[in-house]
Amino acid sequence: MNNTQQAPGFKCPVCGHTIHTSITELLTQASIRCPHCFLQLNIDKNESKRAFEIMENVQAAQNKMDNAHKIR
Ligand SMILES: [Zn+2]
Repeated sequence: MNNTQQAPGFKCPVCGHTIHTSITELLTQASIRCPHCFLQLNIDKNESKRAFEIMENVQAAQNKMDNAHKIR
């Protein structure tokens, strides 16, 4: 298990190099390029929107935890 908190990213389908990106970048960029082999990937807006919703849910859960700590 990878227990380090890393920036969101995904593996390049061509070279396997990890392409680091952010949710914001995924939402605002039309495409993303692998820094290793320069493969250009078009971003599926529907897919990134779903990923964004998942991230929002994670953030909401974290906020709830923060609030719980503050109450105690
Ligand atoms: Zn690549």
